[in-house]
Amino acid sequence: MNTIKLVIVVPCYNEEEVLKETTRQLSGLLALMENEGRIEDGRILYVDDGSKDATWPLIEQLAGANPCVMGLKLAHNVGHQQALWAGLEWAADSRYDAAVSIDADLQDDINVIPEMVDDCNKGIDIVYGVRKERKTDTFFKRHTAQLFYKLMRTMGGDIVYNHADFRLMSRRTLQALVSYPERNLFLRGIVPTLGYPSASVYYDRKERFAGESKYPLTKMLNFALDGITSFSVKPLRLITTAGLVFMLASVIAIIYALSAFASGQVFPGWTSLLISVWFIGGAILTAIGVIGEYVGKIYKEVKHRPRYFIEKEVNL
Ligand code: UDP
Ligand code: MG
Repeated sequence: MNTIKLVIVVPCYNEEEVLKETTRQLSGLLALMENEGRIEDGRILYVDDGSKDATWPLIEQLAGANPCVMGLKLAHNVGHQQALWAGLEWAADSRYDAAVSIDADLQDDINVIPEMVDDCNKGIDIVYGVRKERKTDTFFKRHTAQLFYKLMRTMGGDIVYNHADFRLMSRRTLQALVSYPERNLFLRGIVPTLGYPSASVYYDRKERFAGESKYPLTKMLNFALDGITSFSVKPLRLITTAGLVFMLASVIAIIYALSAFASGQVFPGWTSLLISVWFIGGAILTAIGVIGEYVGKIYKEVKHRPRYFIEKEVNL
């Protein structure tokens, strides 16, 4: 069996409370996998996404004490997806054969990483970490997440159910990934489109080890909308369909009204008029909003701004 060089990429935003423990657990796991001959060199790469707390000094301190810890400090906060991208882009161009991406908060079970590595050693390029059940989530989050995956699928996105950004990618898939020029990043939607051999490993997601979630409800909703609109133009098609349905309904109403008028009947109309004007107004505004969403995306993409700037690095 081959043994690979592995880097674990961890985006961090204000994670001073968890990094010590994360480092302890991850470096322990890497040492174990080296002993077992699963990997021949294992490192952790922390990407500090412009944290406002002591995350970066802590990363420097951890890197000083432990040679397997490396750090990249981004000049400002660019968000989880772009920060992860920064780490993966570095990995694609490095001497590592594969990269595992994982959140800093230890919610994903690191004990399935050896399984991912085994799959990789067998020649599988992408190994998805999939949550078995969502016990630790609230009723609301569980159901909205389910709805989101369904919606994504019907809109044509090739998304893996209950998989977030905990996955292993081989170097060639990383290189394929970084050739995608898009700025609107929704990694869990892009990765399946790469098409290389893939597998899944299953785990139970835990509570955050410490600190609080950086994804409050509004951010989650935005993320979901972003996900759909960066993968599918079906919402635009839906607008056209809705428009046609409204038109058809209005033609029927017109014929009905005219024939009633011809037979001398007059309808008192204030309520029906007002309601339909409001309804149609709302529908039009929504349609414009959906179109605007795409126009905004095009605007962002054509500007083609750099994704991030690296301010400092340690142990790289
Ligand atoms: N994160 C980041 N930049 C941000 C927000 C979050 O790098 O602007 C990181 C964060 O430190 C964590 C991961 O992204 O490692 C996922 O965030 P979090 O655990 O808060 O999300 P949740 O698990 O609640 O969805
Ligand atoms: Mg988390």
